[in-house]
Amino acid sequence: SQERDKYIKGKKLGSGQYADVYSAHLVSDPSKLVAIKKIKVGPEVKEFGISYDSLREIKFLQELDHPNIIKLYSVFSTKNQNLNLVLEQLPQGDLLKLIQDTQNISYTPADIKSWMLMLSRAIWFCHANFVLHRDIKPNNLLIAANGEIKLADFGLARSFADPYQPMTYNTITIWYRPPELFYQTQYYSGAVDIWSVGCVFAELIAREVLFRAWPESEINMVKIICEKVGTPSEDNWPGVSKLKGYVTPTEITPLRSRDYWLGAFRAIGDVGVDLLMKMLTLDPRRRLTAEDVLRHSFWTADPRPSRLEDLPRKG
Ligand code: ADP
Repeated sequence: SQERDKYIKGKKLGSGQYADVYSAHLVSDPSKLVAIKKIKVGPEVKEFGISYDSLREIKFLQELDHPNIIKLYSVFSTKNQNLNLVLEQLPQGDLLKLIQDTQNISYTPADIKSWMLMLSRAIWFCHANFVLHRDIKPNNLLIAANGEIKLADFGLARSFADPYQPMTYNTITIWYRPPELFYQTQYYSGAVDIWSVGCVFAELIAREVLFRAWPESEINMVKIICEKVGTPSEDNWPGVSKLKGYVTPTEITPLRSRDYWLGAFRAIGDVGVDLLMKMLTLDPRRRLTAEDVLRHSFWTADPRPSRLEDLPRKG
């Protein structure tokens, strides 16, 4: 039988920029809930079918099996060649909703440590399997019923999406993008994800976006990164001035000191601030790798990460 006939589609769970997401259950076992993400595919996909690269990425994701990565069970197409991803259903919302709900949700440094450890493990696992996520941000961190964080949305939706579909209210944000991408580096690595993880860490602590360029443009992103981290130069990032997109504001900011970072993020403690600064290192070659992140002393320093059952959840 066809893959699509194995599921009974229920109510809509939400819709995003590229997709509508529905609740569904298995015909063979109505107690097994999944989420079906129906992607509005772009004209190239309609004309030429799914590319070999995308198929390989899907196969890869189906094989990534980690408690902190959303499970992709299968993929099928329906009429109009819409693409449907069958995913683990995660009904507890995402980390962004918790961060933003300052009225009802409070959380502690131990909670932040617990969420960050789950995120760091997910990234380590991706990189160990040669997968880059490329779009880590709080709304791509979904929360499972038991409180676990699950990394979702592996750029897959985007690679198929129809760019002319005008169903967008949330636009693709560049706030979590590292400086090397604004400078159009050729060499691009797992360091990209680590920068984004650093941005999420800072946002969890301060409950506001770290590099919130407004209006959201690449030039404003470079400006705010220079202001808050320091101006990229040959001293702190050998080779940077030769990158194709290299620009800086005329006023040079020296690399910000530990005291500057402590001033803003003291709540997470000295060891936490040390980890944060090392994730937000300008030079991608000097930035911590996912493996370095897991070896950092932050995880074993006091306070210990909160247990899953003690983490705050949406009301
Ligand atoms: P897009 O990638 O197009 O932005 P999203 O992945 O953000 O689409 O999905 C849109 C909405 O659907 C989310 O805000 C969320 O409410 C819901 N959703 C997405 N994935 C799941 C899931 N696995 N389980 C439950 N709800 C989900």
